[in-house]
Amino acid sequence: MSGIQSIYKRAVDSLSGKMSAELFLKEGDHVLVTIIPSGSDDNDNRLDEFASHSIRSNQEDGSTQFNTVFCLRSVGQGCALCDVNEKISRRFGFWAYVHFILHAVQRREEWVPISSAGGMRMYKEMVDAFKLIALGCGRDNALLNQLYMIYSENGSLNKGVIRISRIGQKLSTTYNINMTTQDLPLSNEILKKAKELPGVHEYYLNKLNTQKQRANPVALTSPDAIEQNNEVNDNMDDVEKLMKELF
Ligand SMILES: [Zn+2]
Repeated sequence: MSGIQSIYKRAVDSLSGKMSAELFLKEGDHVLVTIIPSGSDDNDNRLDEFASHSIRSNQEDGSTQFNTVFCLRSVGQGCALCDVNEKISRRFGFWAYVHFILHAVQRREEWVPISSAGGMRMYKEMVDAFKLIALGCGRDNALLNQLYMIYSENGSLNKGVIRISRIGQKLSTTYNINMTTQDLPLSNEILKKAKELPGVHEYYLNKLNTQKQRANPVALTSPDAIEQNNEVNDNMDDVEKLMKELF
């Protein structure tokens, strides 16, 4: 094994053996991360843009889910989905070291309930792992602009801890990217491992190849399921208060 395959294998192996290193936010999630690339190096492909298709599929239980599929035109190759005029959307992806996630709903027992003085309750999941986070650029590049603002104000994307939030359901789903005042420096060991992470395109291409070998069809990412959540506190002011109180 050589070249890209070995780079990919090393990266995947170092990601605690999980094949999928992507992180998908669910409604009401607030993810605290340190972005790995600084954003200033054009050759650092651990931050990159790409095109994708959103393919709808109906589940046996009657629900609908969307699979985000990497468009091969992103890397100058032919794309079967473009050939049948599937709509394209623009995304950007980056590697981040995920410290923890605050969830609005407790889906696992091991998540630790935390409450603010104001009575807001969230559930903390420790992650402490590298994850690839890919997000839509947003209408008029709104979300990409948020990332760009962080870069402009700090001269880098990786100088501090950033919070990525997902708010709202279905068509009203929005994401926010904010700089926080958290102080969670990465160890030298983590920084060393970060150098082995593959580029964003590289990651998706290799995932595609791996799935082809398994004769799996086109879906490249885990399903971004539409969920029916209840009682999710969407109030960003409450989240800010809780963050200030607890961290
Ligand atoms: Zn395509």
